[in-house]
Amino acid sequence: MKNTKTTYLPGLLAILLLVLLIPGSNAGATTGKNNILTVTYLDVRQGDAELIRTPDGKVILIDAGQSGNKYRPFDGGKDVVLPFLEAEGIKKLDMVVVSHPHDDHVGGMVSVLSNNNISVDAVLDSGLIYSSGAYEKYIELVKERKIKFMIPKKGEFLNWGDRVTAQVIYPQIPPEKRSHLSPNNNSIVIRMEYDDISFLFTGDCEHEGEMEITHSGARNKITVLKAGHHGSETATGSDYYFNADPEVVILMVGKRNKFHHPHWPTEKLLRETGADIYRTDHDGNITITTDGKTYEVVTAAEE
Ligand SMILES: [Zn+2]
Repeated sequence: MKNTKTTYLPGLLAILLLVLLIPGSNAGATTGKNNILTVTYLDVRQGDAELIRTPDGKVILIDAGQSGNKYRPFDGGKDVVLPFLEAEGIKKLDMVVVSHPHDDHVGGMVSVLSNNNISVDAVLDSGLIYSSGAYEKYIELVKERKIKFMIPKKGEFLNWGDRVTAQVIYPQIPPEKRSHLSPNNNSIVIRMEYDDISFLFTGDCEHEGEMEITHSGARNKITVLKAGHHGSETATGSDYYFNADPEVVILMVGKRNKFHHPHWPTEKLLRETGADIYRTDHDGNITITTDGKTYEVVTAAEE
């Protein structure tokens, strides 16, 4: 079952059908060279992981969920991201983004970067130095594999192909001046636009960062919003939310998570505004495809 927001143009439908009908082919899904932008919000339980495939064929991974340990063996990278990349025939990531160094974002990246079958061209990092086993191991792997390591400047545009505009809209102050901010409010926030359809990837950015975004002069209206910090009450403030005025909101949360995310104030705000709400704990992987004019949301739970 699919939730089709608006009707596709016949040409777009034909391309999608063609891709689906060629036996063993996932070329369209893999290379993206078909006018289609695909964003998959991966169900990594309590954590974030988003895979973007641009119309120019660039593949970008933002975060990779948590790391596993002997008490909690689930690893977002090993158990979700890598199997998904393999199933989709993806062997190259043009960019990996680590929104901030908390384990539920960077933890699974250790497994991803440990897999030499996946080549990685560049890493975009918040620049916040953090003391944890997973973060340190990730930095070690970046150095070992000699992957280009980038810390974005204010308002920096990212090269995700000619068809898509991707800009880091937060943080706006230089990394060396961010020490007063919490790790969550050091999150890299990226606005991506493909013609009429826009996406905001927020990491765990909370009210403090959202205020800065709201008053930055950047365009706030967004089509698809990933709610910051897993729908916590410390994020998704009403001013910010009403300015963003999203049509679709994604909540990335684990089933019965110990933080009780999403928190009720956020859920109440979302419910009152009539946006379509998707949650990885209920819907599994959530995939949005768009030709820049219309979009379609398909969830694993509905397939
Ligand atoms: Zn998080």
